[in-house]
Amino acid sequence: MSQKFYCKYCGTERSSISSLTAAHCDKNPNGKYHVPYEGEEKSEYYCKFCGTERSSISSLTASHCDKNSDGKYHVPYDGDEQSRYYCKYCGMERSNISSLTASHCDKNPDGKYHVPR
Ligand SMILES: [Zn+2]
Ligand SMILES: [Zn+2]
Ligand SMILES: [Zn+2]
Repeated sequence: MSQKFYCKYCGTERSSISSLTAAHCDKNPNGKYHVPYEGEEKSEYYCKFCGTERSSISSLTASHCDKNSDGKYHVPYDGDEQSRYYCKYCGMERSNISSLTASHCDKNPDGKYHVPR
């Protein structure tokens, strides 16, 4: 019963979703409040825009992301760890997020690079 919920934009930690989403988030590019990270707890978190790796959501989201088309900071990938990652816009396949997001995507309507689905 000690589950923790983390904001995917800043890593703030609360014991319930309602207390997390009740508080303001400085890093949410789309709204004012914290948004729960929906993936599993992991030993390493990867930015879904560039593949940068950190051991916690708060350290990942503390630094700027050059490839985030939506905001300024890294955002954790919330899918499961996989042996292959596919671009959600064009289906390009790579063995890790950083190599997938390193190359340009012709079909991404919001940004320039492939984004893992
Ligand atoms: Zn937040
Ligand atoms: Zn990033
Ligand atoms: Zn793509």
